[in-house]
Amino acid sequence: MVYLKTDDEIELLRKANLLVSATLTEIAKNIRPGVTTRSLDKLAEEFIRDHGAEPTFKGFPNPYGPAFPASICTSVNEVVVHGIPDDRPLQEGDVVSVDCGTTLNGFCGDSCYTFCVGEVSPEVKALLDATKAALYAGIDQAYPGKRLGDIGSAIQDYCVERGYGIVREFVGHGIGKKMHEDPQVPNFGRRGSGMPLKNGLCIAIEPMITMGERHLAMLPDRWGVVTRDGKPAAHFEHTIAIHHGKADILSTFETIEAIERQQH
Ligand code: MG
Ligand code: MG
Repeated sequence: MVYLKTDDEIELLRKANLLVSATLTEIAKNIRPGVTTRSLDKLAEEFIRDHGAEPTFKGFPNPYGPAFPASICTSVNEVVVHGIPDDRPLQEGDVVSVDCGTTLNGFCGDSCYTFCVGEVSPEVKALLDATKAALYAGIDQAYPGKRLGDIGSAIQDYCVERGYGIVREFVGHGIGKKMHEDPQVPNFGRRGSGMPLKNGLCIAIEPMITMGERHLAMLPDRWGVVTRDGKPAAHFEHTIAIHHGKADILSTFETIEAIERQQH
């Protein structure tokens, strides 16, 4: 069942998503070699709660094992998604995707950014740049008159042309009072196929792109998902509303990118 949102609901979704973006901006300020993902998780949880919201991921149920124990997913290098924060200090050259969700006034925010720890290799930086660009290529297709398959095919084309792998087991999703609503939003597809896009549709678009093969394996913690070939992956996610005939991006990377420009 797809719930189209009213203008008022879209503004509530925007508030929740801007809090996610502000949380990821706090991460941007603090991520560096020697820092642990557990300390980033603590910072995120405090920041979210200080702003009157709940960390949506904490206690999120898992059909395969225990509920998610943290407020952010921190997926380092070959970990594609759902990495559990831990005590291993980050090292120069690592990349970490930080996925964050908030529930504020009954509505959910969901956004993800892949951070560089110090200087990373040019090949890995190119993977991150391509994944972010693929996300925007997908968003460019998100307006009434287009279909869901147009979003997926734009992301797929962008990444396949550059020789990257596209994760198929995990996809974007509708978002509202629940973090995961219908429809599913795959990062692959056929142009002109799938559900027609309408004003009021709110979705998270989130390409997960691999440097090598797209094949995955699950870690023993039953959450973390890694590339089977051990090569790195990247993940960027925006929540958008299709609104007044165009894509309205409810989360933002601008404040994160401003921090990155100061650091490099
Ligand atoms: Mg997410
Ligand atoms: Mg999501």
